[in-house]
Amino acid sequence: KISYYNGEFLDDDKISVNYNDRAVYFGDGVYEVVRIYDNEIFTFEEHLDRLVQSAKEIRIDIDKEEIREIMIQMKDKNKLPNAALYIQVSRGIEGRTHLFPEKGVQPVVLSFINKVDRPIDAMRDGVKAVTRDDYRWLKCHIKSLNLLSNTLLKQEAKDSGATEAILHRDGVVTEGTSTNVFAIRDGVLHTHEANNFVLNGITRQYVIKLAKSLDIPVKEKAFTVDFLKEADEVFITSTTQEITPVISVDDEKIGDGVSGEITRKLQKAFEAGI
Ligand code: PLP
Repeated sequence: KISYYNGEFLDDDKISVNYNDRAVYFGDGVYEVVRIYDNEIFTFEEHLDRLVQSAKEIRIDIDKEEIREIMIQMKDKNKLPNAALYIQVSRGIEGRTHLFPEKGVQPVVLSFINKVDRPIDAMRDGVKAVTRDDYRWLKCHIKSLNLLSNTLLKQEAKDSGATEAILHRDGVVTEGTSTNVFAIRDGVLHTHEANNFVLNGITRQYVIKLAKSLDIPVKEKAFTVDFLKEADEVFITSTTQEITPVISVDDEKIGDGVSGEITRKLQKAFEAGI
C-alpha cells in the first residue's frame, strides 16, 4: 500500500512522521475522508471545498489543486476500486511552541487509503445508539484533527452495547460522534441546521438533496432528545456509514425497532447515485 507524507509517496511501512509535525502534539490541522466507489471519488469537489474551508477557519492556507492531485495520485497508485481515502493537513513542522511557526513553514500533508466495503448489514438491520452530553468545543463545523471528545464518546457508546453516541447540548440533539443525525416524524425529515454545533456532513447535504428530489419535506432545525425518541424513524449519515438506520436510542425502540420506509427510500436513491 502506498501512503503520502510531506511530499513523498512511499510504501506504507516506509512512512515516518516527524515528531515536530504539529499534528502530533497539538492535533493542529484538519482532515477529510472520502469514499471511492468503483474507482471514482464520490462527492470529490464538496470534500475538497470543505477541507479548504476547515483549513481557512484555523488560518492554514492550502492549495486546493495540490490536494486534488495528491488524492488522485493516491487513488491511481493504490488501485483499490472500493476504498476510504484519508487526507490531513497540519500547520507544519517546527519545534513545540503554542505560537504558530515562523512564516515560510509549509503545511504538511499526510494521506493513506484502506479498502472498505459498504456497511450492508448495518444499513439493512440498523444500529443502536445512546445519548450523551455534547461537551465538545464550540467550533464543531471545523473538521479538526482534535477528536479526543469524539473518541471518548464513541468508546462509551461501544461500552454500552451501542454503535453510536448521539450528542446533545442541554437536551438539544446536535450530531453523532462521527455522523449526522436525522429524525423522521409524520413524513418530515428533521436534522440540526448547519452551524457551529455540527459538522456539515457531505453525506448530510447529499441526503437533504435526495429528500427534496423525492418530495420528502426537510426541516433543518435542531430538535430535542425527547423528539428523537418519539420519532417514527431515525438514521445517521457519514461518508463511510452512508445512511444507517438507528433502531433504538438508550434502549428505547424507535418506531417498530426496524429500518423505516422513508429511510429505505433514501438508501435506495443514495445507492442509485453512487
Ligand atoms: N459529524 C462528525 C462529527 C463527523 O466526524 C463526521 C464524519 O466523520 C460527520 C458528521 C459526517 O460527515 P460526512 O458525511 O462528510 O462524512
